[in-house]
Parts: sequence; C-alpha cells; structure tokens
Amino acid sequence: MSDPGTIELRTPIDRLPGVRRDWVPGFVRLGLTNVGRLIDHMPLRHEREEAEASIADLAADAVVSARGEVTATSGAARFGRARPRFEAVLHDHSGRLDLIWFNQPYMARKISRGMQLRVQGKSKRRGDTLQIVNPRIEIISEDRDEPDARDERLRPVYPTTEGLPVWAIERVVSSVLDDALEQIEDHLPDDLRTERELPPLRNAYRMLHAPRSEQDITEARRRLIYDELLMLQSGLALRRSLVERSTTAPALRWDDKVDQRIRARFPFALTPQQDHALRDVIRDLQRTRPASRLIQGDVGSGKTVVALYAMLMAVASGAQAALLAPTSLLAEQHNATIRGMLRGSDVRIALLTGNLPAEDSERVRARIARGEVDLVIGTHALLGERVRFKSLALNVIDEQHRFGVVQRATMREHGEDATLPHTLVMTATPIPRTLSFTLFGDLDISTIDAPPPGRGITTTERHPLADRERIDARVRALVDAGEQAYYVAPAIEGDDERTGVRQLHDRLAAGAFEGVRLGILHGRLPAESRDAVMERFRSGVIRVLVATTVIEVGVDIPNANIMVVEHADRFGLAQLHQLRGRVGRGDRDAHCFLMGDPATPEGEQRLDAMVKTTDGFEIAEIDFELRGPGELVGERQSGGGMFRLAEFPRDVPLLMMARRDAQAWIERSPTLDEPGDALLKRRMLRAFGEGLGLADVV
Ligand code: ADP
Ligand code: MG
Repeated sequence: MSDPGTIELRTPIDRLPGVRRDWVPGFVRLGLTNVGRLIDHMPLRHEREEAEASIADLAADAVVSARGEVTATSGAARFGRARPRFEAVLHDHSGRLDLIWFNQPYMARKISRGMQLRVQGKSKRRGDTLQIVNPRIEIISEDRDEPDARDERLRPVYPTTEGLPVWAIERVVSSVLDDALEQIEDHLPDDLRTERELPPLRNAYRMLHAPRSEQDITEARRRLIYDELLMLQSGLALRRSLVERSTTAPALRWDDKVDQRIRARFPFALTPQQDHALRDVIRDLQRTRPASRLIQGDVGSGKTVVALYAMLMAVASGAQAALLAPTSLLAEQHNATIRGMLRGSDVRIALLTGNLPAEDSERVRARIARGEVDLVIGTHALLGERVRFKSLALNVIDEQHRFGVVQRATMREHGEDATLPHTLVMTATPIPRTLSFTLFGDLDISTIDAPPPGRGITTTERHPLADRERIDARVRALVDAGEQAYYVAPAIEGDDERTGVRQLHDRLAAGAFEGVRLGILHGRLPAESRDAVMERFRSGVIRVLVATTVIEVGVDIPNANIMVVEHADRFGLAQLHQLRGRVGRGDRDAHCFLMGDPATPEGEQRLDAMVKTTDGFEIAEIDFELRGPGELVGERQSGGGMFRLAEFPRDVPLLMMARRDAQAWIERSPTLDEPGDALLKRRMLRAFGEGLGLADVV
C-alpha cells in the first residue's frame, strides 16, 4: 500500500484533497476517475488573463484580475425573478468595479460589506464604470497572508459537464499537476523525439495545463497530436505486420507474353498514368504477401482497365478474380464492358448480384466454388454473403468508401496462417477519402492523376428553376443534333414535377421532348428492366435518360454528353461531381446544367464551386471547407470521436511524419514486443486496440 498522502496517477479523483463530493459525479461522467486521466483531459482552449492591476488600470473586454474592498452590496439576492441577481461594489485606492452575479443566490450569503476580495473575470464597460459579470472570487482573510499579485497568464479552459464548474477542474488539475508530471513516462525514445523536435511528454502536459506562452501551447499540442497519430499508425502497421506474418497470397505470373496478351484486349493504349499505377499493381501481385492497394483517380480517369488488367493476371495464373461494385447497376455495366473486351476469349465470367433469382444465384455460386468461373462480377454485398471460391487470387473493390471494415472482417474470418487474396480498391473523389484511408487503412496508394487524352471539355452552368423551359429547349436542340442526355432528379416520386423522376419523365415527354425516345431509370426497377434501359441508352435508341442518382457512380456511356440536374442544390458536392463525371467521357464537348434555387448559402457555394472547377481535387478541398473536417472523419470506422486533438487537413504533415515513424518502428520490431515498446504498445492498444480489431489478436 502506498502512503495515503501521496498522489499517484492511479489515485482516485474522490480521494484528492479539495475535491468536493458534489463534483465527483461530474468527474466520473467525463471519465476522469483518477489523476492520470485527469492529466490527460485536454483543455479546449486557453484564455489570456491579464496580470492583477489597480482597478483604474483595468482594460475593458479582457479577462482581468484585481483586488479591493466590498463597499456596498445589493443585499439579499432578489428571488422569484426570472434571473436572481446579486450585486456588489468593489473599491481599491484607484477606483470602482461593479460585480454582478446571476443565478447564484448564495453569493448574498457569502459576500458582505468590508470584505477584502480578489476577483477575476471578463470586464465590460457600462457607462462610466467597469463591471464583471459572474466573476470568480477569492476572499482574502485577515488571518492569512495576502496572496501574491497574479501575473499575466494563459488559463486553460476545460470541457466540462453539468455540476462540475470549469474552474473546479482547473483547480484540481493544478493541485496535482506537479506530482503527476513526475510520474509520467515517455514512450518515445529520446533520439527520435529530439530528431522530430518534440518536447518530452512530461513537458508537453505541463505546457498544456500551465502554459507560460502561446508557444508552449503550440509545442505541447504538436507533441500530443503527433502521439495520437503515431499510436493510430503504429496500430495499423502492427495489424498489417500481423497479417503479413500469418498469411500468404498467391503470387501471380507475369511476363511479357502475359502483358501483351492482356493489352491486346484493350481498345486503346494505356496512358502513362495508367501504366504507372499498373506497375505498382503488377509488382504487388507477383508477391506472396497479400497486396492492399488503393488506386485513386478522378471520375473518368480510367481506373477500370487497370483493374481488368490485374484480374486477367489472376486468370493467366489459373486463379479466380472478383470485381465488387457498390451498386447492381454498376456491376451490370462492368459485366457488359468486360464481356465486350473479352469477347472471343475463353475467360469465363459470371455476374452475381442480389437481383439474381435464388436458384440462379445458387447455380452461379456452385460454379464459382468448383472453379468453373474465372471472373466474378458482383456487388459489395457479395463479400458479405461469403461466396466460396475455388482459388480466389484477387479482389477488386470499385468505388469503395469503407475499406477498413472489409479488412477487419477478413482478418477475423481467416485468422492465422490463411491464404488471402490480394486486394485492390478503386476510388474517385480524391482528398477526403485518401485522407481517411491514410488515417484508417493500411493501404498503399497509386494515383492516376490525368484523364485519357482527347477528351472534350465539359462546361457547367447553373440556372434558377425558372429557366427550365429555356434550358429544356437548348437540350432538345442538342439532342436533335445527335447528342444524348441525362436528366437527374432527387427522388423517384417527388412532391412536384421536377423532384420525382416519374413526374419529370412525364412532363418532359409531353413537353420539350415530345417525339423523342425517353427512358426512365431508378433503383426500384427490376434488374432486367434496368439492364434493358441501360442497353438501349448505350446503343442510342433512348436519347434522354431520366434517372435518380442510381447513375451517380461509375456509369460509363461515352456518347452521352449532356447532364441536367434538377434541384441540384439538394445534392452534396461530391455527389454533383460524380454525377457530372458521367458526361465528358468521349471526345466531344459536354454540358452540365445545374438547376436550382438554393435555400442556403452552402447550397449556393456548392453550385458555384461546380461552375468554377471540374477538378476533383479542388472540389474535394472546397467540400472540406464547406462541411468541415468533422464530417470527413465521419467516415472513420470505429465510430465515436476517434481523435481528441488531431484535425484535418491541418495536421496532414504531422500525420505523414507519424506514419513514417510508425512504419519504421514496426519494421524494427514487428510485434512491438521489444523492451522499449511496452509503453507505446500499451497506450496504443488502449486508444485504438478496439477500433482496429487488435484487442482480440495481440
Ligand atoms: P473511372 O476512373 O471513372 O472508373 P473508367 O474506367 O470508367 O473511369 O474510364 C472512363 C472512360 O475512359 C471509359 O469510357 C474508358 O473506356 C475510357 N478510357 C480508359 N482508359 C483509356 C485510355 N487509355 N484511352 C482512351 N480511353 C480510355
Ligand atoms: Mg469507375
């Protein structure tokens, strides 16, 4: 047993001197059950507090401190009013300061004329006098030495909860800080720490709870944010190293002959950007460790063919490959495109989506299990349904946004010593997703950063809804001149003729597009009808396709060059960018018309952004600014507030640094079982073990 008087990191909060009984529930609610946790409670911000001064010298609108004698009070607080209020007047040799308390009737009992007080709070000028509302006070009693005059300082402001005043947290923290700091051990080795110009952990905590300057706060935050990111990244690297050590993947065959045979199937030569990404992929797939690679490229940059190349590598090695799309529509389209390119070859392809009748689905599964199918194309749900493969070598996941989930599931299912397929993930909408992948996924990344050459130019215009007739007429003229168009509406059934696809279709058919072949497409149509509609649109029989956002991702019909989005302000920016990505896929110029009367400034800004740029990176940046990083990291996979301090994109440089350091660390110590790793490992598991699915593995 330790001496009850000493303060340790584990000492329970309710055993600390000065902690009032009625504060305890508040501390517990905040999870601050012991000293260690309390020290780890980060201030939200810091308030500058001026040095103690004579009343006459106090500034207005600043956090000030002064001392003086109470010369008058308003007497008993006036109860029964909406806001009970109590006032006192404080004088020193230089002047007068008014003190006002709301909702604190007990102040009337506490404060009386003739008392010496030290007060602190935000000053305001009211006419000739300065006043402080709800000041913090300290009664200076005669039998004690006068407290020293206070210097200017930065006061931490902590997040708190009901029943626990902010100053109570501040007071308890400062009473244990020195003792606690002494016991804090650093998990970073000194040489790494100094190389990265980070302060010792102990100092970082001191600088955050009791900063001497703004510089202190910045330095402390930098260290603690780095730590937070290092923990996450070392968790990811550890998970990856565990997977690598306990699993293998089939190494795929590749040589010039394979290369030539595959390329001969493509109707075009690959761009240098595609080739570049492909080189990474080929290298990955020839190894016996399961690849996890993200291929990012803006809409229309040509990711599919890179995926197809990889899948054909699997087939060339006598193994199977799967392509998973987010929607059946997209799976159906991939199926059509790939069949087209492989016509006349002996590659066996199967389409497996949720729309397939049960017996058919059974039959397809059986063929997959027997190895009678080489390429399986399906929806993401395919993975969930646990299709059994005879020899799956590669999973390609198209337009996937939540990769970590897949990884964790795979790891649990397969456990140790398993053979895993390689994994390739394709994604558009660059920055936010890449960032979250970097944060949460242990993925290698390749980028296709320019579209295939010879694309036409897409112009984007925004128009008020009142301009519909005029725009419809323009689109009609373009359609008469041989173009095909998409009309997108926000819903299947709308409350007016422009919000629902059905109503919109009927209206266009009877109005501007009389005599033109229209098609209608939405998620509630049976798969065969959707197929038929897409096919007839692709072949040009249907000239105008009226659709919901089922066409949002992936749909690739190069001849369709007009996009009209109804109520465009109701769509998110990333979604609008994806929708616009459906046109301009051929060599002719494309037009995108965004119709809408935005009800919010953000709606305005989204539409303006779309008009301003077609660059997915730029769109993503603007999306960041409009939605804030919170929502982006809302794609985080373990739910809840994953980061306490890190914020993005602000902390990208620290993230990159932490990622490199974590990877190097795990390379040196692949299971984090070296003596110097214990603290890092423990803290990492505490922070992220659950979220990363490591808790049950390590
Ligand atoms: P995304 O990256 O959005 O998935 P796709 O793979 O659907 O893009 O490709 C967009 C369009 O560009 C398709 O029509 C495709 O056939 C075409 N394409 C892809 N690569 C090339 C290339 N190297 N040269 C010419 N056209 C290409
Ligand atoms: Mg695609």
